[in-house]
Amino acid sequence: MPFKTDYIPLISNSPLTERQIMVWRFGTIGARPKAYVQASLHADEIPGMLVARHLGQLLYQADQQNQIIGEVVVVPVANPIGLGQFLNARLNGRYELGGAGNFNRHWPDLYSGLPDIVGHQLGQDGKKNIDIIRSALNQILNQSQAITEMGSLKLTLARLAYDSDIALDLHCDDEALVHLFLTPAHWPDASDLAAEIGSRANLLCADSGGQSFDESLSTPWLKLAADFPSLPIPAACLAVTIEHRGSADVNDPMAKQDAQAIFRFLQRRGLVKGNLGPLPSVLHQASDLAACDIVRAPIGGIVVYLKELGDVVSTGEPLAEIMNPASALPFAARTPVVSGTDGFVLSRRLEHFVRPNDTIAKIVGKVSLPHRNGLLLEDK
Ligand SMILES: [Zn+2]
Repeated sequence: MPFKTDYIPLISNSPLTERQIMVWRFGTIGARPKAYVQASLHADEIPGMLVARHLGQLLYQADQQNQIIGEVVVVPVANPIGLGQFLNARLNGRYELGGAGNFNRHWPDLYSGLPDIVGHQLGQDGKKNIDIIRSALNQILNQSQAITEMGSLKLTLARLAYDSDIALDLHCDDEALVHLFLTPAHWPDASDLAAEIGSRANLLCADSGGQSFDESLSTPWLKLAADFPSLPIPAACLAVTIEHRGSADVNDPMAKQDAQAIFRFLQRRGLVKGNLGPLPSVLHQASDLAACDIVRAPIGGIVVYLKELGDVVSTGEPLAEIMNPASALPFAARTPVVSGTDGFVLSRRLEHFVRPNDTIAKIVGKVSLPHRNGLLLEDK
């Protein structure tokens, strides 16, 4: 089936302000494997939209040459609501300004009700179980209703993605190295993606507590497998959040490189024809998200970094200082901000004036940290 662009209207919160989701469809609808890719759910994280555009060009050419075996659905602009949120001339796309919260939290709970629907249908055939579970997920989503624009956005995207074998959510951090978030059930399976994209950190978490988009797709399978330990229930949706470096890393060479990496990954996974050479080396063996220290500012002020991205730090070693620009004496002391683990600097803050408790950096360690419990993500 040829390439197709669809438009799906969202519920509007206000008269005459209807937004829509644009969907690129490559390959054959219903063919397997199916991949779903969406860009910039956090609408002010721009690199993903540029990567999606380059990926779309590669997929379009492959589609023209009948090289797409499965189905690839791409939503190149996942958050038109956030993309319209300019405040004081700056784009604010992480939280819905109307008060509906972080765009990547509290996604529809597809697990709720799932065991009751499938419990009596599941058997010893893992492939059949996948079909049964996908059908039940479809039923749950069909019965779900949204009444707000934000709810409509989530439900629309969830309906496009819920039955995919692979779901990639393209984000970025403030200043960062390329990294991935995914569940432990999909590692080392996803090391091909990590290797292709050159991921510098692969952070694993079974449930971060935030009900993010990727987890809303991957965790129902894992929870169901725990409910029915005697039955073969595969982790059938590999959902990964890709952090495409930092928000200022928006340029064609990087975006093209990342798009080509995703395209080669889809080829390796049998969605697109192509003979690839050996897989590059994985740059980072995965570590627990609970071993990633989120370093926060103890006080407000100007953050001055002592360490660069990728630098190795030890527990207790200062990686930044907070300077009080209003201290009475010009040589007043600075407050050191120290690492809570042995590891390396994965990300830093882009804006250097901070409030108490603002995130300063993420340090990737190897040992789970006792203070990292509850919500493991940076914010709600
Ligand atoms: Zn994000």
